[in-house]
Amino acid sequence: MNAIHDTIVALSTPSGVGAIAVIRLSGKEAITIANDLFEGKDLTQAATHTLHFGSIKQGEEVLDEVVASIFKGPRSYTKENVVELSCHASPYIIEQLLQLTITKGARMAMPGEFTQRAFLNGRFDLAQAEAVADLIAAENKAAHGNAIRQMRGGFSGEIKEFREKLIHFASMIELELDFSEEDVEFASRDELRTLVNQLMVPINGLIRSFELGNVIKNGIPIVIAGKPNAGKSTLLNALLNEERAIVSNIAGTTRDVIEDVMNIDGITFRFIDTAGLRDTDDEIEAIGVSRTKEQMQKASVILYLIDLERADLEETQQEIAGLKSEDTPYLLIGNKADIASEDIKNEVANNDGLLISAKKKTDLEGLNQQLMKVVDLEGLNAEATFVTNSRHVSVLKSTNEALQRVINGINSQITNDFLAMDIRQALHHLGEITGEITTDDLLDNIFSKFCIGK
Ligand code: GDP
Repeated sequence: MNAIHDTIVALSTPSGVGAIAVIRLSGKEAITIANDLFEGKDLTQAATHTLHFGSIKQGEEVLDEVVASIFKGPRSYTKENVVELSCHASPYIIEQLLQLTITKGARMAMPGEFTQRAFLNGRFDLAQAEAVADLIAAENKAAHGNAIRQMRGGFSGEIKEFREKLIHFASMIELELDFSEEDVEFASRDELRTLVNQLMVPINGLIRSFELGNVIKNGIPIVIAGKPNAGKSTLLNALLNEERAIVSNIAGTTRDVIEDVMNIDGITFRFIDTAGLRDTDDEIEAIGVSRTKEQMQKASVILYLIDLERADLEETQQEIAGLKSEDTPYLLIGNKADIASEDIKNEVANNDGLLISAKKKTDLEGLNQQLMKVVDLEGLNAEATFVTNSRHVSVLKSTNEALQRVINGINSQITNDFLAMDIRQALHHLGEITGEITTDDLLDNIFSKFCIGK
């Protein structure tokens, strides 16, 4: 990335035609550059956090009428001088206005460069900067809540506390090194062991939360399973209200796994339609069946469909027993209630099954309600911190390994210099999360995933 001394510019609203577009400038010259183009007021004399109406001149012609918002550093997103020019969102005006700022000395911003500057200028730490990207990408209430919490510093706060405690121990042990002749112990090994064990609990919790964090971000995986022709594809289509999966009355037609997402009460569910579960000689279908079993193990909930039309009582009982032996939570559903016989319906109902007709779309609302109950939403609603970023989880894992080495070191009474080294390693990894320790590659990698203008 380029030096932080120049002034950058980018379109900060989506491209295309619209009512208003915002062109953002950040850097020492932001206000002078905007002022050079602006007619109506001397922006260099404007107070911070004020709005000014005027026009943008291109030679003798008026390009557009705009509103300029002035933010003087450090009271701005990037902590630099920032000007936001709200113009009419015509691709022509936007392009011309960007070019005009460039002729006056601005440079087109790289992806994420505004946020990167905010980070480099100490506005927030790296975990918070990354949360900005998550916030923009959040598609549901839970993902939004988690990103907002992280952006406001929840996650980094916890990590910082761990670091401070460890730094204290590391310095004590390093102090012992200076007195190595005298056999003193400034840092009690028992206390250190206790601290490290205590640290590993929340760090492990954060690592585990990644799984849940991912669920928040990508949706709760729900597998729709059952014998061929039970109506799985029809149910998926009914839930999604579109013809997505292949529906046919030839058993075994959904051979692969089909996925789609749906939002119920602010929670995203990812529905996965699967190949029917049956013994088969067809090679391709057999692959589908084994993938179904894999999906069932990974899913948060199995929606298990019984074909009420075909199943005889004994077969139904067998299927239910098989389902009960699964580790994954499930919802038992009897489908084709519109044409089923009473005894099979009763059997399913007596096993807490829900009776629906996917084809006629009856009782689907009841299914949604049951689903919200079966999925364990407690974790999702809690104010707890979730890790949703794979970089964080891998750094947390490295931290944990270093901490484990500290414990092993204490137990096997390794020398202080090695012990101090392992503690420093753990500190290093924790610093990588919040950005106290960074490399250019790491920063480029993170910020290049942002869009231009952010
Ligand atoms: P899959 O193999 O489990 O995906 O089953 P499909 O969704 O392809 O459905 C198999 C057949 O059952 C199709 O002909 C559907 O129209 C029919 N079907 C599905 N749901 C119902 C229902 O609720 N009632 C009735 N009568 N037929 C249904």
